[in-house]
Amino acid sequence: MTIFGPIPSRRLGASLGVNNIPYKICSYNCVYCQVGRTLHMQVKRTLYSNPSEVFDEVKKKVERIGETQQNVDYISIVPDGEPTLDSSLGELIERLKDLGLPVAVITNSSLTWDKSVQEDLKKADWVSVKIDAVSPNTWKQINRPHASLSLDEILQGMQEFAGSYTGTLCTETMLVKDLNDNPEELTAIANFVKSRISPYKAYIGVPTRPPAEPWVSRPEPESITAAYAIFTKEGLNAETLTGYESSGFVVTDNPVEEILEITAVHPMRRDAVEDVLNRFGVGEEVLQQLVKEGRIRKVHYEGWDYYIRVMR
Ligand code: SF4
Repeated sequence: MTIFGPIPSRRLGASLGVNNIPYKICSYNCVYCQVGRTLHMQVKRTLYSNPSEVFDEVKKKVERIGETQQNVDYISIVPDGEPTLDSSLGELIERLKDLGLPVAVITNSSLTWDKSVQEDLKKADWVSVKIDAVSPNTWKQINRPHASLSLDEILQGMQEFAGSYTGTLCTETMLVKDLNDNPEELTAIANFVKSRISPYKAYIGVPTRPPAEPWVSRPEPESITAAYAIFTKEGLNAETLTGYESSGFVVTDNPVEEILEITAVHPMRRDAVEDVLNRFGVGEEVLQQLVKEGRIRKVHYEGWDYYIRVMR
């Protein structure tokens, strides 16, 4: 179990991350995943987290952040896998809400056909559901789902959830060049999102960190603009997430340990890592040492060096 951050998020402000799933267990194997290829494809919900233990850890962290005059806007359940695979998710959300902070969950929505998942997600204050495609072929190409999943059932489940959820519901559509950035797919997605989900906000993202597959690239600016235009024409409150959210990583005690925790789920750009080390007067040689020891890996993407945790 990892508590990381807070990390800066345009959607959530200062977001304190809770990783409730063992490394890279997911129902999808998205080509753009920023934490690499899925190691274990799974759809069966399993008891992964202990809500009381997580509560104690998060409480300690929130108190420590408060002592350093920094703040947390959201507690976000955003693991390096799919959070709804954890069968104690609902209880975990309830416990975390006792801290008096809003709780967010970012899900790939692949299990929303399962009523127990819908009930668990309803407990969160803010939920983001992923909709990268509504046509089966594109869905298979971009999300590479577990073989037992059905897109029709997922879309139906999402619609049911949206109809009964009373918190803030957002959608996220990740655009990948030549996969789902064509007007036909985008129009179909926008139509589904507006008519069946009606979210508070429909986010349009592009890969801004090193993707699982090296051939993945962000769409041309014209395609991103077209996507935004298609979404807004459909009547959606759309917003693009096309920039790297780099500054403002909150670190309280041990910069090296916290960099390792953050990079396990959130690749950090070189300038952000240096910023954290500088704040603690730690030299850059520490970074080189982590790379040398094989604890983090350097990846070059779109002109920048990123650091990603190496999980063993
Ligand atoms: S992007 Fe999310 S849903 Fe897709 S493989 Fe990575 S963790 Fe799973």
